[in-house]
Amino acid sequence: MAERMLKFVGTPQVMPEKRPAAERRRDFQEIYAAYAREKAGEQAARCSQCGVPFCQVHCPLHNNIPDWLKLTAEGRLDEAYELSSATNNFPEICGRICPQDRLCEGNCVIEKGFESVTIGSVEKFITDTAWEKGWVKPIQPRRERAQSVGIVGAGPGGLAAAEQLRRKGYQVAVYDRYDRVGGLMIYGIPNFKLEKEIVQRRERLLRDSSVAFNLNCEVGRDISLADLRNRHDAVLIATGVYKARDIAAPGVGLPGIARALDYLTASNREGLGDKVPDFESGLLNAKGKNVVVIGGGDTAMDCVRTAVRQGANSVKCLYRRDRANMPGSQREVKHAEEEGVEFVWLSAPQAFLGKDTVSHVRSVRIHLGMPDASGRQMPQEIPNSHVNIDADLVLKALGFDPEDLPAQFAAPDLDVTGWGTLKIDWRSMMTSLDGVFAAGDIVRGASLVVWAVRDGRDAAERIHSYLTAKEQALRVAAE
Ligand code: FAD
Ligand code: SF4
Ligand code: SF4
Repeated sequence: MAERMLKFVGTPQVMPEKRPAAERRRDFQEIYAAYAREKAGEQAARCSQCGVPFCQVHCPLHNNIPDWLKLTAEGRLDEAYELSSATNNFPEICGRICPQDRLCEGNCVIEKGFESVTIGSVEKFITDTAWEKGWVKPIQPRRERAQSVGIVGAGPGGLAAAEQLRRKGYQVAVYDRYDRVGGLMIYGIPNFKLEKEIVQRRERLLRDSSVAFNLNCEVGRDISLADLRNRHDAVLIATGVYKARDIAAPGVGLPGIARALDYLTASNREGLGDKVPDFESGLLNAKGKNVVVIGGGDTAMDCVRTAVRQGANSVKCLYRRDRANMPGSQREVKHAEEEGVEFVWLSAPQAFLGKDTVSHVRSVRIHLGMPDASGRQMPQEIPNSHVNIDADLVLKALGFDPEDLPAQFAAPDLDVTGWGTLKIDWRSMMTSLDGVFAAGDIVRGASLVVWAVRDGRDAAERIHSYLTAKEQALRVAAE
């Protein structure tokens, strides 16, 4: 091993080629090119094969990173794919959109002196190669089982669970209120981070594996939770969180002020070839406008970068804390700055001004004061520090809360936490309703794709245990 690996001293970190910002600004294609085979092998060989691999510890899926890096360095890509896909349903998606700087790569031990191994890019390379070579095959369970599972939500949590359950031979039906499969991977996250074909080929694979999709079907409106419980032996709720947080400031109702996800969904739909009246009318289109995005998370980063690509006149991001204290990935901020976004740190909206439509955001300067109970410094307004910023499109990207699921599902016995997320027993992943499980953002609050995948896989395991016990109990009763 020694001669092939441990090359981090002599081989510098090289990311796949990044397209120049001037070119990226003009289209919605992904910004990184793919590694060539030799480059992926060379970069994988930088890994020092740690005895205690902190990269793996800090990957929510505990991916066997050192082993698949070694296999890649040795050119054994088919085996690298087998290993990587054994712990992750969507390695090529996580390789593209995990905030690696906060997870695996941020904890790579060679990061300190030599910059981390490019784990995400190698993971993406392995599985993209597997797709190209035809190694990714539909599931053919060793045996079919009669029991069925209904999954509410076709986001990464629901899809990971669907795949895992199908592998075990269960009959799986996924219900989603959208017309497309993928949840936030299709309508939230923009194409320049995750091209839609990457999600759609996963959908095709699941369909070819006999997972049934019931789209345009909202549970609570088109079908009740009670019906689903009657129809299936177990139900998984993976509905995500969609209630946008709002701003309590004068003028917030003015036309020209929109919710971030409405804006991103319109842009994604337009990119997918749909007719989007609010985009065509200009309501949710940044072309020629002065755009102000409020917030500092992933959603805000996606909005500013989408606005640049739509041909905005100017794009500013207003965030009440500073760069070091923002929740969004630093990598994304860097991309956005390169693409021409201006960050206005330590600033918060005080009012929205305009007659018929918004024309300015009155913003006030912020000072970070004493830490609160969570340890984060409290933002405090600096008196008389306001400025008016030109704005004809304002996007509110302040995060999401869960919808009121017990009311929506007419299930008052479905317990929720104080935050409105579904309460589960973490050992069984079951909600307060027998045979009803939950996974993903609806349990954790707004989180990450990789955590939804982890939860979906865990839920599938627990559902399997539950259904096995149920089957046995029925058998005993019949004897
Ligand atoms: P979702 O992906 O939200 O899927 C839930 C599905 O349930 C949806 O398809 C919805 O239509 C459906 N549904 C809801 N209610 C019902 C109902 N009553 N009946 C039927 N169907 C229903 N994470 C990252 O890791 N990297 C990123 O770069 C990243 N960028 C993001 C950018 C944006 C703009 C946003 C909003 C989020 C981003 N995230 C990112 C977070 C990530 O997308 C989520 O954490 C993840 O998608 C959660 O998965 P989920 O399966 O729990 O829910
Ligand atoms: Fe890193 Fe995400 Fe891949 Fe885990 S799934 S190795 S955190 S990129
Ligand atoms: Fe390799 Fe870095 Fe993981 Fe160590 S922490 S095993 S060097 S990728």
